Amino acid sequence: MKFDFTSNKDIFSSELILFSAFNKQSKLDISHWPSDIAKVFYNIKSSFLYNGKMSETFFFNLTSGTTVMIYGLGEKEKLNWETLRKEMAKTYKAIKLTNSSVTIDIAQFAIKKQFDKTIQTICESFLLTAYEFNKYKTLNKDKTPTKLEIINFHLPPKSGLRPANLKSLITNTETIVSAINFSRDLSNEAPNILHSENFAKIIAEDAKLLKKVKIKVLTQKEIEKEKMNLFLAVNAASQYEARLVELSYTPSKVTKNTKHIVLVGKGLTFDTGGLCLKPASSIENMKYDMTGAATMYAAFKACCFLNVKTKVTCLLGMTDNTISASATLPDAIIKSRKGTTVEILNTDAEGRLVLADLLDYACEMHPNYVIDCATLTGAILVALGPEICGLFGNNDKLISDITKSAKNCNEYIWHMPIIEEFKSDLKSNCADLRNLGTSRNGGASKAAAFLEHFIKNDVAWAHLDIAGVAGSQSHLPYCPSKGASGLMIRTLIDFISGHA
Ligand SMILES: [Zn+2]
Repeated sequence: MKFDFTSNKDIFSSELILFSAFNKQSKLDISHWPSDIAKVFYNIKSSFLYNGKMSETFFFNLTSGTTVMIYGLGEKEKLNWETLRKEMAKTYKAIKLTNSSVTIDIAQFAIKKQFDKTIQTICESFLLTAYEFNKYKTLNKDKTPTKLEIINFHLPPKSGLRPANLKSLITNTETIVSAINFSRDLSNEAPNILHSENFAKIIAEDAKLLKKVKIKVLTQKEIEKEKMNLFLAVNAASQYEARLVELSYTPSKVTKNTKHIVLVGKGLTFDTGGLCLKPASSIENMKYDMTGAATMYAAFKACCFLNVKTKVTCLLGMTDNTISASATLPDAIIKSRKGTTVEILNTDAEGRLVLADLLDYACEMHPNYVIDCATLTGAILVALGPEICGLFGNNDKLISDITKSAKNCNEYIWHMPIIEEFKSDLKSNCADLRNLGTSRNGGASKAAAFLEHFIKNDVAWAHLDIAGVAGSQSHLPYCPSKGASGLMIRTLIDFISGHA
């Protein structure tokens, strides 16, 4: 997809022009249109049926051969960025098979005359919506290929907008969305292809393109040397070695005030539940259990391209959780990297075991913040539904900053509690900790309470439980209706780039 700009008065030489319409007191409002075009529209007999309600479209042709598509945005006062993002996704789907180019009159879609943010939002929406995962479909005979390639933004005259600035805005948006789409690809990949060894290879190869980044891939032996026994207990039955990918980005200018953020991602390439085997109905889609790692890598990658002023480290723990004679037994007691002993009562509560050793390792770097991201619990879906990301942590400022970033990006996040009672519910009869609470109640919070145990050196920590939001988001037209959503990456990028 190519984006271009024109402030040429003659937009009626284009193939397709996109105009907006609003609905004011139940009536059509197109008062912002050029009067000659409005005249043509009103001359059309069926035009009286159209009233500019949300998502309502109307097409008509001009004598120049140009098609005008009118897109209804409802009440003008109620239009917000997320609505614009969603409605533009629908627009893209409506024209992608029938048109090769479209000219969008930006002034007609701008919210409060914020032309640059409007361009960015449309660009983001189109690129997110254009994503497809169809590399394994060999029979594509019935599929009509996307034709839409050129998006022309028509800038309002005397807007003061400089195409050079807008181009860099678009480049940044393309960088962010391509990282999101890369993470969607990783998550959607089949688990027989994307096992831990391959996952690490793909990330290490991709990270070679990043500047100012050091790449370290810890092998099974090196993970053993690090005494990450909880992580290794999850890997015990695997035919593949565990991998810990460590990427560190250092900005060009580092002072004693430069912040350091460590991102930690859960990369369970497949989760059978281990010996506490999942039933067939819930084992399906367990390839997505590595989405925390894909999310963190995407955020890291975009931040490197955006040259953020923060030092960022990315730690990705990769393994599957399978079954063999060497699988970790329920009731096993394992000594973590930190030294805490953990009684593994349920082998399906494995993500927290991988994260525990990684968080301990992360805190040793004495960073300002550690943020982990994981498809950690089914309980977060019970609590918040699949639309909202659960946010936990030990630091109010960090929680409030991440919440603000989510708001900036129109992504849903909700602060969840970790109370003392949840921590004491994790006491084991025969070890220091059990790997899950004594009942299912409060499961997402108790998983977070388990993680908090491994935070040391007074590091400010936040945990994102994306078990809900990582998957299909049918309410968001800019996410694929089935498969990885790529949500929370924009939020993380906003947070990191705001913390110089
Ligand atoms: Zn599990």
